[in-house]
Amino acid sequence: MKRMGVLSFQGDVYEHIFAIKKAIKNLGLSMVVNEIKTGDDMNDIDALVIPGGESTTIGKFISIYDMDDKIKEFAVEGKPILGTCAGMILLAKKGDSKNLLGIMNMEIKRNAFGRQRESFETDIDIDNIGKYHAVFIRAPVIKRVWGNCRLMAKLDNKDNKGVMARQDNIIALAFHPELTDDTRIQEYFLKMVVCEELTMKILKNIGMRKNWIYEVIVTTLYNKNPYAAPIGVWTEDFDTIKMCIYRNSTTLGNIIREREFAVNFVDDIGIFYKSLFNKNEIMYENSIVIDASVIKNSTASIELRVKEMVEKREGDGFFIEGEILSVQIRDKIKLINRAECLALESLIYATKINHLPENIKNIREILKENYRIIRKIAPNSEYENIMERLQGSLNLLD
Ligand code: GLN
Repeated sequence: MKRMGVLSFQGDVYEHIFAIKKAIKNLGLSMVVNEIKTGDDMNDIDALVIPGGESTTIGKFISIYDMDDKIKEFAVEGKPILGTCAGMILLAKKGDSKNLLGIMNMEIKRNAFGRQRESFETDIDIDNIGKYHAVFIRAPVIKRVWGNCRLMAKLDNKDNKGVMARQDNIIALAFHPELTDDTRIQEYFLKMVVCEELTMKILKNIGMRKNWIYEVIVTTLYNKNPYAAPIGVWTEDFDTIKMCIYRNSTTLGNIIREREFAVNFVDDIGIFYKSLFNKNEIMYENSIVIDASVIKNSTASIELRVKEMVEKREGDGFFIEGEILSVQIRDKIKLINRAECLALESLIYATKINHLPENIKNIREILKENYRIIRKIAPNSEYENIMERLQGSLNLLD
């Protein structure tokens, strides 16, 4: 069972514990929520919340209890952290406060709206979450972000007034989600906590088989716009996804430039058609960590960063290997591998041989080609086996 910790030195610790428990219940998860007061306490948790309060005070306690390194290690290990208000200040690399933990690539300004009485509530628009009523109490703002840190929401649509940011598995908010009834932010965070486990095993969990090729739609970023193309992908180790892309394709150019892309699993062949001939009809939504969008109606989308890119020794393309950054599952995933259809198609062709003997040469060519494709896209499969037997049976006809 996953365990969540709330740093419990000062601030609105219990409001957080209460809100997280509510979100856990809403999502139907079973998870423990612990109060964290020492470095040792952190050994027992999978995710950490740093609450709002007084950043100087919380920061002092963190150093008195020698927890600075412990929290930084936690972040480096990729374990999720949620920092709200004072918690956000502490996570920043730059800002007008002492005791910064220096984890997130962002610069913050404390008390950006003035004193306590300048506290306010307002609606904001959060990427991946939507419209949200946010409570700001003597709140900081994010002045800028860099590197892998992304703004998820800003005030007045101004870049220098960021109020929520994400850097991989770490989220920072200038406001207080624990003070409203709306638990969508806690739920988003909890999904990351369970998703981390999911991410590790995702390719196995969705039923991919080693070295089989699956038809997906790859989305990339082209001149700041989304770009979609159908591509076959495979995994050799269940950790990374590989694909081979044509040398002169737009997708290859986009991947070389951006180093990031998404693999979208769709169960609607119409979307494959659109990705080839009617690209502007495809509907997109924001991705979680990369800049390129993902396909809205896909059953799942996996965001990846290029791990390796190798030019094919002979032929016309590049092998690209992507490591998984994030996973979104929306619906039951239907993997598309063509071997089953090809094997069935081949059997149907075989039935025609007796009735259309003049076509036998042609049919043999088609079956040979199908056999070649099946060996490539579903090695060691039952379909390969059927094709072998089919070849044997046809030879008897000679
Ligand atoms: N103003 C506080 C600080 O600088 C943060 C306020 C809050 O967490 N609500 O630490």
